[in-house]
Amino acid sequence: MCVQIRLTNTLTRQKEVFQPLVAGQVSMYVCGVTVYDHCHVGHARVYVVFDVIARALRQLGYLVRYVRNFTDVDDKIIARALKNGESCDALTERFIAAFHDDMDRLGCHRPDLEPRVTTHLCEIVAMVEQIIARGHAYAVAGEHGGADVYFDVDSFPAYGALSGRAQDDNQAGASERVGHDPRKRSQADFALWKSAKPGEPAWPSPWGLGRPGWHIECSAMSCRHLGDAFDLHGGGKDLVFPHHENELAQSKAANGGAFARYWLHNGFVTIDSEKMSKSLGNFFTIRDVLARFHPQVLRYYLLTAHYTQPLNFSDKSLEDATRRVLYICEKLARARALGAPVAGAPVEAVEAAKAEIDAALCDDFNTPRALAALSEPIALLARALDKPKAPESARTIAAVQTLFERAGAVLGLFDHPEATALAILVQARERLFPPGSPALAEVEAAVAARSEARAAKDWARADEWRQRLAGLGVELRDSRDGTEWRPALHEASAP
Ligand SMILES: [Zn+2]
Repeated sequence: MCVQIRLTNTLTRQKEVFQPLVAGQVSMYVCGVTVYDHCHVGHARVYVVFDVIARALRQLGYLVRYVRNFTDVDDKIIARALKNGESCDALTERFIAAFHDDMDRLGCHRPDLEPRVTTHLCEIVAMVEQIIARGHAYAVAGEHGGADVYFDVDSFPAYGALSGRAQDDNQAGASERVGHDPRKRSQADFALWKSAKPGEPAWPSPWGLGRPGWHIECSAMSCRHLGDAFDLHGGGKDLVFPHHENELAQSKAANGGAFARYWLHNGFVTIDSEKMSKSLGNFFTIRDVLARFHPQVLRYYLLTAHYTQPLNFSDKSLEDATRRVLYICEKLARARALGAPVAGAPVEAVEAAKAEIDAALCDDFNTPRALAALSEPIALLARALDKPKAPESARTIAAVQTLFERAGAVLGLFDHPEATALAILVQARERLFPPGSPALAEVEAAVAARSEARAAKDWARADEWRQRLAGLGVELRDSRDGTEWRPALHEASAP
């Protein structure tokens, strides 16, 4: 039984009740990456957001078919391959593998299908022919022979409906970007097919050798794998115009009106209020960030804002997420160490949290609200773990563990709490006290001095050193084997 979901539809600019084409099923297409370089945190957000959306829909009872493409032929790919002195194929294979590696580390499930442009040329050519046949595109002579095909924007009155742009804006924008092209009927017309330039990858077509324009690939691949009409189309906000506006026009022009019904767009990751992007040069790659922060920390941080809102990237926000994820994972690890939970009678506060998380996800996939709902259960667990022998504790510990398994499955978090907690600590130690740094030398000298004082049974001096270490952000764990130290990562309170 599927519950009612409300989502923000860019097409109508409203939060609407989601009604799938086929009851109980969801078809979803998300625009993938152009594979010529490593992905940055902005990409991580898009794919974590849509991973959670797919997981949530599945947990709420829908059968989901999730398609996400790879753009594996494009100007940037051709230029980069030429610069590197390698083939486009070698370059794209390498970055597809790197993308999969990043996504796997971030805990994103693979989509059901990951189609590539280079294996969908037949579908693309057929769609361009269809658009010409319906009077919405035209061919003009290409620069190096063959023909270029352009979409005729003026033939499609609904153009601009998704982005809310007026025709005049597009004309001005288009001419500023690419210069005036006298072959085009309107300067807003965009390429469906580009005739081959010497030395570039090219495929045969009715217009001679060439390759597809950027936008047509998603129209052709979504149609091929999800049909003319499907439910959800997603991507980052930067794709609304021109990419999705053009996709919408092409697809409707080709098939006579049907296409995606709901358009979901996630907000930018910003740095100092500016969008993180390759073109602005203010980006961090996913692997840069994962060298310093655990993938679960990055994933948690990416879910702390509603997907439609901007999310500001900073070390501080990642340190906050580090403390939170560590706190939760350590509690869950302690609970697991007690043995397999035995389900008891429901715990009211945990049941309420479960209902709240479901409600949050049904309300436009509100992940910050779902994360907030975990605060009370984790506080209950902390109290129960302090008194594990108390009769009501076993029931609480079991109920909270079950809740976190369920919430973790939809958020993609907390599934290996022991390993995650340990890795977070190791990484935090290296990050905050880098090997060879004066900070590390100071801590190690203080730990040694304290050990000496303890050996001499000078407890007052040992305590002084402990205090001094606390001031350096270090806490100590004494055992028979000696003293271990770790960065003090205390969770202040609820997020
Ligand atoms: Zn696309």
